[in-house]
Amino acid sequence: MRYISHVMKTPEILSPAGNMEHLETAILYGADAVYLGVRGETNLRAGARNFSFEELARGVAYAHACGVSVYLTLNTYPHDAQLKGLPPIIRHARDTGVDAVIVSDIGVLSLVRELAPNMPIHLSTQANTVNSRAVQAWADLGVSRIILARELSCEEIRNMKSRAPLELEIFVHGSVCISISGRCLISSYLCSRDANQGRCTQPCRWDYALVERTRQGRYMPVEEEDGYTFLYNSKDLCLLPVMGKVMALGLSGLKIEGRNRTSLYIATTVQTYRKARDAYLKDPEGFFVRPEWMDELGKVSNREYFTGFFLGSPDEQGINYDFTGYVHTHHLAAKVLKTGEGKTVFEARNPIIEGMEAQWLSSAGPVRDFVFHDMIVEGSRKTRIRPNEVFEMKTGFVPLPGELIRKPLSEGDKVAVREACTS
Ligand code: SF4
Repeated sequence: MRYISHVMKTPEILSPAGNMEHLETAILYGADAVYLGVRGETNLRAGARNFSFEELARGVAYAHACGVSVYLTLNTYPHDAQLKGLPPIIRHARDTGVDAVIVSDIGVLSLVRELAPNMPIHLSTQANTVNSRAVQAWADLGVSRIILARELSCEEIRNMKSRAPLELEIFVHGSVCISISGRCLISSYLCSRDANQGRCTQPCRWDYALVERTRQGRYMPVEEEDGYTFLYNSKDLCLLPVMGKVMALGLSGLKIEGRNRTSLYIATTVQTYRKARDAYLKDPEGFFVRPEWMDELGKVSNREYFTGFFLGSPDEQGINYDFTGYVHTHHLAAKVLKTGEGKTVFEARNPIIEGMEAQWLSSAGPVRDFVFHDMIVEGSRKTRIRPNEVFEMKTGFVPLPGELIRKPLSEGDKVAVREACTS
């Protein structure tokens, strides 16, 4: 079962996993591989919950039992003082059967080669590989896969692929930096938090104003739209609209960004790209991007979408000048814990009230609408369920444990979310 993607030359759908629940959700909804980090400052999402050593071992065992690969991110640029934290992690990754490590720094690469000589090494997008000579040079150093820089066009990727002696992977979805893939010091200067140590505070998304030194508190009207000034607030990458071109490149991996995102984001993005990939493989000639796939991606939080550099350099259309934060239309209402005897047991993730409309995200079929009703908590009927409360309900469908229930946000909810994002 494992490695079937490689045998069939099928690009892996790679999902982020910020914690164990994300890993399980990604696998349930169709990921071929997950990438994750252990706690500490050795990966570029230090703010995510990440994995302990014990969780990593459990995660790898679970993923492998499901035929899914696990890639460990060690993609910071560690200074000398931080290097000493790496050997125990590399040895643990080797001993638990991690399928590859993702590195950016050449020193980390050499450490992996020394401590785990048989471990496949993937080069992070953070290493900014933008030409064929660089691809060859990394191959000579023992890298087996390169996650190309996001700043490449389809034509450039095709050219590099035609000469590449190793596997190539690209990001297809998620947040992007206004700088070259995280090579940015805005957060270091403004917040003393280094983006290249995984601690970016995303100051590129902030609402800036001009203040004259002697007039503190008086903001000059440097406005772009509705009183806001978002000079560097990039939209999110989404290559689904050009999925036919992406698939025709014959890459090894299609990666989704977002180890700080939610289970709902992971389930929706993984399932959507998986459907698109499988549809292409089934019928490349007749492939088209189904409107319902784009609709699904519109239901996860996003800063509006663009196709990055894939169709050529982006212009001002790639910046979201309207607001910081995310477009938010749905949120996670509940997760299925178990089913049986005509009832489903859920764990609420947000408040639920009797009569509320919701949608079951089937991992195997289409989304199905239903209404919360007759909810039971410890034998008593309840009309209101609090977050984290466990309740049961009769359902006209049989979901699988781990599947998610989402709820469309009301107009009032959307305003509240938007205000929270912009305040
Ligand atoms: S501040 Fe913005 S551009 Fe810079 S690393 Fe952070 S997210 Fe990327």
